[in-house]
Amino acid sequence: MDISSVVEKVHTQLLISDRWRDGSDGETYQVENPATGEVLATMSSASESDALDAMNAACDVQKEWSRTSPRERSDILRRAFELVTERKEEFATLMTAEMGKPYAEAVGEVAYGAEYLRWFSEEAVRQYGRTFEAPEGGKRLLTVRKPVGPCLLITPWNFPLAMATRKVAPAVAAGCTMVLKPAKLTPLTAHYFAQTMLDAGLPAGVLNVVSSQSASTVSEPIMADPRLRKVSFTGSTEVGRTLLKGAADNILRTSMELGGNAPVLVFEDADLDVAVEGTMQAKMRNIGEACTAANRIFVHESLIDEFSHRLTQRMEELKVGNGFDDDVTVGPLIEEKAVDNVASLIDNAVDHGAKVTTGGTRVEGPGYFFAPTVLTGATPNARVFREEIFGPVAVLYPFSTEEEAYSLANDTEFGLASYVFSENPATMFRASDNLEFGLLGFNTGIASNAAAPFGGVKHSGMGREGGAEGIDEYSEIQYIAVADPY
Ligand code: NAD
Repeated sequence: MDISSVVEKVHTQLLISDRWRDGSDGETYQVENPATGEVLATMSSASESDALDAMNAACDVQKEWSRTSPRERSDILRRAFELVTERKEEFATLMTAEMGKPYAEAVGEVAYGAEYLRWFSEEAVRQYGRTFEAPEGGKRLLTVRKPVGPCLLITPWNFPLAMATRKVAPAVAAGCTMVLKPAKLTPLTAHYFAQTMLDAGLPAGVLNVVSSQSASTVSEPIMADPRLRKVSFTGSTEVGRTLLKGAADNILRTSMELGGNAPVLVFEDADLDVAVEGTMQAKMRNIGEACTAANRIFVHESLIDEFSHRLTQRMEELKVGNGFDDDVTVGPLIEEKAVDNVASLIDNAVDHGAKVTTGGTRVEGPGYFFAPTVLTGATPNARVFREEIFGPVAVLYPFSTEEEAYSLANDTEFGLASYVFSENPATMFRASDNLEFGLLGFNTGIASNAAAPFGGVKHSGMGREGGAEGIDEYSEIQYIAVADPY
C-alpha cells in the first residue's frame, strides 16, 4: 500500500469529543519514518488547555456512558475488532512507516492488537458480582462492579496499536471514559485507531486523543484534575516513577507496564533447536524493541559454544532494511539516540570482556539501522546486564547449576518476562517457583496473549492487562449490606 495515501486517511489533529480539531495555540510537530528520515505527517500538538478540554469531554459523558448496557459496549468492541481487521493493511502500513517494524510483523501486531478488542467484547458481558450471607447472619452481602471513572491512558511507540487497544478495550468494556496520549514518535496509528472506534459506534467524548510534543504538558493538568480516577501507563520505569509520584497527590488508581530485563534460561536438557528458535523470537521480535525482549541469555556451560554458534548463524541470516522491502526481517531502530545507546552498550560490554561473534556495528542509513549482534563473555558488571538494550543485540552468559541460573536471572530490579527452555516439565514448576517475573515462557519465545494477564513485578510495574484480570483494572467493587428481611 502506498504510504502517503494511507497517511492521508488519518486525522492529524486532536480528538475532543466528536471533533478533530487543531491545538489551541497552533503548535505542531512532525512524525518521521525511521527507515528514511522522511517526514510522514505534521501533527497538532495539544496544549494544557486542550488537555483540559479533553478531560471535560470525558467527564461530561462519564455518567451516561456508565449506564449503557454491557451488551451495547460489547457490540461496539466487536465492531471495532471487525473494522481494525478489515483495515489491517492500513494499520500495518502506518506502523511500518512510523515505527519501522517489518511489514509482516506489523500485520502480526494488527491481529494481536485487534484481539484485545474481541477479547474484551466477550468479557464486557461477563462481569459478575457476588451475593452471600454475612457469617454471623442477619444480613445479605452483595458486591457490584462499577467503572472507575475517567482514565488517562499513556502509550509508548514500540507497539503503537496493541498498547492502545490493550487499555482502550477494557476501559470501554468496564464503562470508563478516557483521554489517550499516544507516543510523540508514533501517533498516526493511535489516531487512526481512535477514528476506527468512532466508526464502530463509540459515542462522542468516551475516547479523546491529545497527542503532544510535550507529554507532561498534557499529563500534568489532567492528573491534577480531581475528576480523574485512574492513570494507565506503558513506558519506561523512569517515567512510570514520575507518574506514580504525581498519582499520589490525587490518590489515583494506577496500572504501570514498565521496563524489562528479560532472562532466557537454556538448561542442559533443552532441545537446542527449540531453544535457539525461541531465543530468536524472544530477542528479535520488534527489532529487539520490546519490553519482553530477551536481554540476558543464560546458557548451560555444556551447551554455550554450540548455542552461540547456532544463534550467530541465525542472526547472520537476517536481513536489515526498510520494513516495506521484501525479505527484510530487521527494520530500523526508532531514532538516532537509540542507535547511539545500543552502540555504547556494546562498547561498554567489550570493555568488560565481551567478544562480538557477529554484528556490533551500525548499518549505513539514511535511517537508524544496527546490525544483528551476538556477544559472549560479558560480565554481569557490564551495563548491558542491567539496562534494557532495546535493539538487536543478544548477550550470552554461561551458568553451571540451576540455582546459579535463577540467581543470575533474578539479579535485576526488573521483573516482566522470563523464558525457560528444558525438556523436563518439572523444570517449569521449579522455574515458576524461583523466577521473580510476571510472565514465564516455557519452551516458547512469545508469551503475550490477549486472553492472559500481562504485567510485571518489582520495577517492571503493577497491574495486569488482558485476560479476565484486565477489566479489573478499570472496575471498582462496591459492597452493599442488606438487612435480613426476617
Ligand atoms: P517513555 O517512558 O519514554 O514514553 C512512554 C510514554 O510516556 C510516551 O507516550 C511518552 O510521550 C510519555 N511520557 C514521557 N515522559 C512523560 C512525562 N514526564 N509525563 C507523562 N508522560 C510522559 O517510553 P518509550 O521510550 O515510549 O517506550 C519504551 C519503554 O516502554 C521501555 O522501557 C519498554 O520496556 C516499555 N514498555 C513496557 C511495556 C510493558 O507492557 N511493560 C510494553 C511496551 C513498552
